[in-house]
Amino acid sequence: MAETRQFKTEVQQLLQLMIHSLYSNKDIFLRELVANAADALDKARFESLTDPALSRDWKITITPDKEAKTLTISDNGIGMSADDVVENIGTIAKSGTKAFLKMLEEKGENSADIPELIGQFGVGFYSAFMVASSVKLITKRAASPAVCWSSTGEGSYELDAAEKEVPGTDIILYLKDDAEIYLENWKISEIVHRYSDFIAYPIVMPEKKVNEDKTETVTERTLNSQKAIWLRKPSEISDDEYKSFYAHLSNFGGTEYLKAIHMTAEGTSEFKALLFLPKQAPFNLLMPDIQKKGLQLYIKRMFITDECKELLPDYLRFVCGVVDSSDLPLNVSREILQQNPLLGKIQSAVTGKVLSELKKLLENDRENYEKFFAEFGRIVKEGLHTDRPNAEKLKDLVLYESMNSEPGKRITLKEYVNAMPESQKDIYFITGEKREAVASSPALEYFKSKGYDVLFMTDPIDEWVMQSMYQYDQKFFKSITKGDFEDKELEEKVKADGEKFAAVAEFLQKSLDDKVSAVKFSGRLTDSPCCLITDGQALSPHMERLFRAMNQDVPVSKRILELNGDHPIIAALNEKIAAKADEAELKRYASILYDQALLLEGSPLPDPAAFAREVVTLLSGVLK
Ligand code: ADP
Repeated sequence: MAETRQFKTEVQQLLQLMIHSLYSNKDIFLRELVANAADALDKARFESLTDPALSRDWKITITPDKEAKTLTISDNGIGMSADDVVENIGTIAKSGTKAFLKMLEEKGENSADIPELIGQFGVGFYSAFMVASSVKLITKRAASPAVCWSSTGEGSYELDAAEKEVPGTDIILYLKDDAEIYLENWKISEIVHRYSDFIAYPIVMPEKKVNEDKTETVTERTLNSQKAIWLRKPSEISDDEYKSFYAHLSNFGGTEYLKAIHMTAEGTSEFKALLFLPKQAPFNLLMPDIQKKGLQLYIKRMFITDECKELLPDYLRFVCGVVDSSDLPLNVSREILQQNPLLGKIQSAVTGKVLSELKKLLENDRENYEKFFAEFGRIVKEGLHTDRPNAEKLKDLVLYESMNSEPGKRITLKEYVNAMPESQKDIYFITGEKREAVASSPALEYFKSKGYDVLFMTDPIDEWVMQSMYQYDQKFFKSITKGDFEDKELEEKVKADGEKFAAVAEFLQKSLDDKVSAVKFSGRLTDSPCCLITDGQALSPHMERLFRAMNQDVPVSKRILELNGDHPIIAALNEKIAAKADEAELKRYASILYDQALLLEGSPLPDPAAFAREVVTLLSGVLK
């Protein structure tokens, strides 16, 4: 059945990089292959839970052969059928390869941290080509014939039938001349100890012993302690151990995490957990396949699944880790397990713990918390909408930029409230695309003059989240570009302006009738002549645009034009109207006023060319 097949283009590119890689840390190839072997064992052991006949002496064997210059990594795990091999090794159906290549382009091929990131992209197997000039993989899936895959990594691979009794996989690396160090026992033990000590299966190396009578016996030396790191005392775990465990667990790649969290729960549900907050958001944080990966679930140290989605609420999907329960029943199908109410109890305990750790981080290590929030803030905010029971805790965890804080600096709601002057009753915010757009909004003028701060909500998710925020510390949230504006002290003045300039309001209403629902005076403005306000119930223009970007049909809602009675333009316009100025000229003023209000709030003009024409006509009049 021997046949040769081509690698997919992206795989070829990737292999070229591996073959010619200049990465200094080539050791990680062994970590990747051992991790794959451990995954294969996890899968086989899980199957054996329901079919004990499949149970065997699970292990990973690493065999160096100095004469043949080969290093073989074997497991007796799940193995692969010929179709599996083609699917998993020959092509890559995953999004990972392309993304990996793109990152290489961005970072430069020789960037130091690339080897650390290989695992993140699901391309770990190919790292074998960093040290091997050719690779042979012999594998057997129970009930399928064994198959042999081999390649030098140059464009194509071969598939052939093979002999193999026990299910599992042997990966034989024909080492390059400069990689012979990986034949040394001490080197292999060192790498296993550093990266794979916690792997729950014995990783063994055959060792020849010459007996007194000169005969040889081969024994096996176990290289890893297999100690479940989550059951150990934090004080006894080294940084390196945490890092390699994190690298093993995380689907984000890298060994750098922000915080490791140990948890021991007793009482109604007993479990131990080790959770990690990652440092950087993965490239595919918002992509569906990572939307919810879940935690690893063990029951009494027995691996059950690495995607237990029931252990975390959706919005904490950036957390990775292990939960080891002592009272969930073993020997159940995944489907039955998913319905076990204990999972819900564990979820709420884990959620509470993560939120309290985040709070601690915010209070004790602001710099790192801000970095964390810049990466993951958007998904934490989802919780405000979806996790009602924890809403109050979450409100203390969100950060926003604000009018009175420097660009890029974010404040908490507590800090906002603490800085409120006595006269301020509500919490004010403005939504928009980005800081530059909201920071120049005329709607801010009044608040600036009063010394009130205004939160800048520039994340697309903010407006949606605000629908369920209502209050913080018994203060209401108010959008400064929505609904009626109230200031008792200014009431009289606004009323007087309305009477004095009634003709202006009437005229603007008439000429902008297709665009605005009402024209009125308000105390909201100090420097600008007018601004646009959204009716209390309606969607803001920013939100309307977002919906449209998502192909949702939303009607354009008419907005309210608010005027500033103190602005000289309003008085001048009043005189022009009284003097019965040319109708076309007056209409031009109305249209320019409306368009500049749109520009100032960061909204696009429906007809920019018309605006430019109006301005030019106006200038020609003035500069005559
Ligand atoms: P990843 O492990 O991140 O998915 P790899 O390139 O390392 O990416 O491996 C690709 C796939 O090949 C794995 O997902 C798995 O299905 C299969 N595979 C690799 N090694 C083994 C093995 N030792 N036993 C069984 N399947 C394996």
